[in-house]
Amino acid sequence: MNSFPPLWLDYPYEERPALSENIQTEIAIVGGGITGISAAIHLAQKGYKPVVLEKRTIASGASGRNAGFLIAGSVEYYHRAIGFIGREKAKRLWALSLESHHTLRNWIREFDIQCDYTNDGSLVLATTPEEWSEIQEAAEKLRKDGFNAETIESEELNRWGESLTKFTGGYYCSDDGSANPARCVRGLASAAENFGVPIYENTPVLDYSESGQNHVTLTMPDATIEAQMVLVAANAFTPQLRNILDGKILPVRGQMLATEPIDAKIAVPCYANFGFDYFRQTSDGRMIIGGSRDHNPDAEMGFDEEPNEQIQSELEDYLMDLLDLDRSPEITHRWTGTMGFARDGLPVIGRLPYSKHIYVAGGFTGHGMSIATKVAEIVSTLLIEGIHPDFSMFSIRRFLT
Ligand SMILES: Cc1cc2nc3c(=O)[nH]c(=O)nc-3n(C[C@H](O)[C@H](O)[C@H](O)COP(=O)(O)OP(=O)(O)OC[C@H]3O[C@@H](n4cnc5c(N)ncnc54)[C@H](O)[C@@H]3O)c2cc1C
Repeated sequence: MNSFPPLWLDYPYEERPALSENIQTEIAIVGGGITGISAAIHLAQKGYKPVVLEKRTIASGASGRNAGFLIAGSVEYYHRAIGFIGREKAKRLWALSLESHHTLRNWIREFDIQCDYTNDGSLVLATTPEEWSEIQEAAEKLRKDGFNAETIESEELNRWGESLTKFTGGYYCSDDGSANPARCVRGLASAAENFGVPIYENTPVLDYSESGQNHVTLTMPDATIEAQMVLVAANAFTPQLRNILDGKILPVRGQMLATEPIDAKIAVPCYANFGFDYFRQTSDGRMIIGGSRDHNPDAEMGFDEEPNEQIQSELEDYLMDLLDLDRSPEITHRWTGTMGFARDGLPVIGRLPYSKHIYVAGGFTGHGMSIATKVAEIVSTLLIEGIHPDFSMFSIRRFLT
């Protein structure tokens, strides 16, 4: 199968040099995705000067390969999240995702990041009558808890696109939006640099050791860093570093494709089939679609970035059915990205139990664009103050008892 660079990474980009000398720093951040870069900005805004180490390029992980949906909540519909974690935690999780989006929006404006940011809302769509009754229940419980979720009957879905009336119904959340995720995170990286944060690309952290003194030594191919604190913001790749959280954060592949610009109109990001299918239209008219992971879940585990023919052709068929097309538009990009699924679907934050200085933030379970900026604030506060009021529901300790 022909694979292409992810749509968002397919433009000329000047890579930063790798770290090539031994240095010392107060805080080292491993990973240049939305989590690592958001943490760098939070820390810089508090007067710290972390160093960011990225093994490939900024946003080359899931952060530059996702659908760019900025949608409230978690992987589960609200009523199901309540069933799993209880009402108070589910309510707080939704509120934190809205705060995360709010901060990201402010940064995009403040730092003048050109990333096609939109704030026109999103639709959660039902593929079957059973899903429709679940979506109505989710929307009702969201409204009861003070969130925006307008229930929409099938025939009214044409407000956002004629073809959407194929769905049984849905809810509209006016808070949501979308962005070109790679431009967004790379724009944030430039903003972090303007705060004085050094960023090194092509700099994989291969290993670390804690000497018992007040620092960690990180080893890269051509350099070492002595850091007083380390934040591992490698999400799915976390277990590749000395098996950190192995079996607790699982690598799950998401696949996407993008078409040439087409005439159809889909006005907002759409999330369907319990989140297994998602699609939207870019500002230049391309349709992007992802998902179908539920059709072959075992094959979609692991770190392999090669698109899988079966899932890619299912995505193409889905698009043709959705838009009533006789032939597929030209597919200009096919790609995959590796998500870090936490065993219980909640982000994982905290200090490693056997370490004095190493913290982790990851396990976004397919929703990091929407919540990682807040999670990065929580973990940054933990690093420098040792406490944050929202830490306990995400604490790494839930996996350690
Ligand atoms: C196909 C797909 C669609 C998605 N759609 C959405 C969506 O629409 N909305 C949403 O909210 N979320 C979505 N997600 C999830 C979202 O992309 C992730 O949750 C989010 O990007 C995680 O960000 P991160 O910074 O934690 O991890 P990543 O972006 O994966 O960043 C981790 C970085 O760490 C680097 N790294 C790893 N190991 C090392 C090392 N040893 N040394 C140095 N660097 C290292 C990696 O190269 C990588 O750049 C999607 C994901 C995929 C794959």
